[in-house]
Amino acid sequence: MTSQQLEDALLAFVNGTLLAGKTPATATDRLFEDGFIDSLRVLELIAFLEDTTGRKVADRQVRLATFRSVRAIALTFAGDASASASDETDALYRYHTDVSRFASPIVELRRRGELIDPDGTVRITGLAARLFHIFDYVFARWARELGADDVAAPPVIPAATLERAGFVSSFPQLLLRTTGDLAYSPAACYHRYAALAGTTLTNSVVLGVHARCRRVEADPRPLERATEFTMREVVVLGTAQDVERVRHRLLRRVDRFVTALALDGAIEPASDPFFASESAGRALAQRAGALKHELRLSLEDGRRVAVASFNKHHDHFGRAFDIAFAGQPAHSGCVAFGVDRWVLAFLTQHGFDERSWPSIIRDALERQQAHAAS
Ligand code: AMP
Ligand code: ZN
Repeated sequence: MTSQQLEDALLAFVNGTLLAGKTPATATDRLFEDGFIDSLRVLELIAFLEDTTGRKVADRQVRLATFRSVRAIALTFAGDASASASDETDALYRYHTDVSRFASPIVELRRRGELIDPDGTVRITGLAARLFHIFDYVFARWARELGADDVAAPPVIPAATLERAGFVSSFPQLLLRTTGDLAYSPAACYHRYAALAGTTLTNSVVLGVHARCRRVEADPRPLERATEFTMREVVVLGTAQDVERVRHRLLRRVDRFVTALALDGAIEPASDPFFASESAGRALAQRAGALKHELRLSLEDGRRVAVASFNKHHDHFGRAFDIAFAGQPAHSGCVAFGVDRWVLAFLTQHGFDERSWPSIIRDALERQQAHAAS
C-alpha cells in the first residue's frame, strides 16, 4: 500500500467514523493538539491502522510525532517497515506493571456504599457503576465496528436449548435451573445460536449480545466469582476464516486497550474449551489447536481472574443447531467480556484516586459527566 492510499483510507475513517458529523480534518491537521481526536479514539485509529496495513503497531511507534496528522501516520506506516501480522497469530500477550500497590477494593467499595450485596446478589453504584458503563460501552463499540447488532438477551433460556448446545453435559455443575423448563442463562451467546436454528446463512454474520448471566458458584466472591454477572459477547458465524478474522481483530483491540490501561495480566490459552469433556470434542480440540484463550488480569495476591475469553467452536454449534453456511455446518466463535470483573481488576490495580488513572478512563469519565449534565 502506498502512503497516498493509506492516507486516503485513514482520512475516510477519521472523518467518516471517528468524527462523524463533526468538523472534518484534513490530512495535515494536528489530530491531537487541535483536539480532533481524544485518547479513547486513538485506540480505534490504531486498530483501524493495524487492520488496514495488516501489521501490528509496536508500542514504541505510538508517539505524538508519528501520530501528529493523518499524513504523518501514512508516511510512517505505509510500506513494510514493521513486523508482519502473521508473527502474532499464536502470540501470547503479557502485560507487566508494579504489582506491589495492588489492593482489593471490596472493603472500600462497601464503605462507600457502592457495593450492595445483602443477600448474595451484588449491585454496584457510584464510581464503580460509572466504570462498569465505560467498559461496557467500549466493548459494545468494538462489536458495532465489526458490524454487529446488539441484543439484550433475557436472563432465562429453555433448558432444552442448553441441552442442544451441549452445555448441560459439559458443565452440569454450573447450571442453575429455574421453574418449569427454563434455566438461567449461563452465557449470553446461546440465545443467538438458538434463534438461528434450522437456517441457512447467506453471509457470514457478526452478532452482539449481552445478558445478566447466572451460574452456580460454590465459593462466590463479589464481582470476581459471582452467581450473577453481566456478560457482553461478540458472536461470529460463517467459515473458519471468518471466525479467525473476527477473533483476531478483537484480540488486537483488547491488546491495545489493556496496554493503554496499564493493566497487569496476560492473554493465554485456556484449558477448558467448551466441549472438551466430550471425547470427540477433545480430539478435535487437540487437532485444531488452541480453541480458547483468556485475558487474565492480576489481583492483589497474585491470583488472576479471566475478564475475557476468545472462543473458537469449530462447527460445533453449526451442527448442534443445524445452521448452514456455504453448504456446510457453519463455523462459529465468540468473544465474551465479563464486565463486572473489569471493574474489579481495574480498581484493584489502579485504586480509587481518579487523578492517577490512565487518561483514557479519565477522559471517558469526563465525557460521561458532560453527557449527564447536558
Ligand atoms: P466463559 O464462558 O466461562 O469463558 O466466561 C466468559 C467470561 O464471563 C469470563 O471470561 C468472565 O469474564 C465472565 N465470568 C464467568 N463466570 C463469572 C463469574 N462467576 N463471575 C463473574 N464473571 C464471570
Ligand atoms: Zn459465548
